[in-house]
Amino acid sequence: MNAQWHNAHKMSNNPTKDEKIAWHFEHAMNCKCREMPEWIKKEIENYKKNEEPVILLPHDPNWTKKFGKEKKLIEGIIGKYITGGINHVGSTAIPGLSAKPIIDIMVGIDSLEKAAPAVKLLEKINYSYFPYKRRYLYWFRKPALPNKREFHLNLIPTTNPEFKAKIAFRDYLLSHPEEVKRYEDLKVDLVREFEHDREAYTEAKTEFVKEIVAKALGPDFHFET
Ligand SMILES: [Zn+2]
Repeated sequence: MNAQWHNAHKMSNNPTKDEKIAWHFEHAMNCKCREMPEWIKKEIENYKKNEEPVILLPHDPNWTKKFGKEKKLIEGIIGKYITGGINHVGSTAIPGLSAKPIIDIMVGIDSLEKAAPAVKLLEKINYSYFPYKRRYLYWFRKPALPNKREFHLNLIPTTNPEFKAKIAFRDYLLSHPEEVKRYEDLKVDLVREFEHDREAYTEAKTEFVKEIVAKALGPDFHFET
């Protein structure tokens, strides 16, 4: 048993479902004293499968307003942990692009260690933590119900290449309308082809993202997605 890990990761008194999932996920990576409960394995599997069909909506100017309001809320709660801004990223940030109507928000932090207290604070404004890409960021959704999702939020060190890549991708598209058009056409084709296979859809889009990031930051820039 990894007693040191257990001491540093006490489950809170009345843990929410999300806290239990997060705890067991971390536990499985750090300690082998007991099996992950079946229901948690299922939750994580279901989450990965993400069975909702991919639905694109035409770009909506309200997405920007929605982001603006949320930004203020986040700033008020975890402002002191933010070192790289609260950034609207992803397709909802680009006029002319259709998108899943979920606002992607990326917050730049100094390090996971320094920003750790922010995880708990974000619950106050209904963000649920989920241990996705746990190795290098904190990931949240709001609200937690999959069919009602409005926001995805991640806290990521500004030194991580993914931070730089997402901003570069957005800014490149904002200044190159012909690439926006090309991306839009591609997304419409892909959604037709992979409506019920979110993973394949995402993978096919990743190729385009890498291509744009290479144009913006040079062919030698590498990041994981
Ligand atoms: Zn253990």
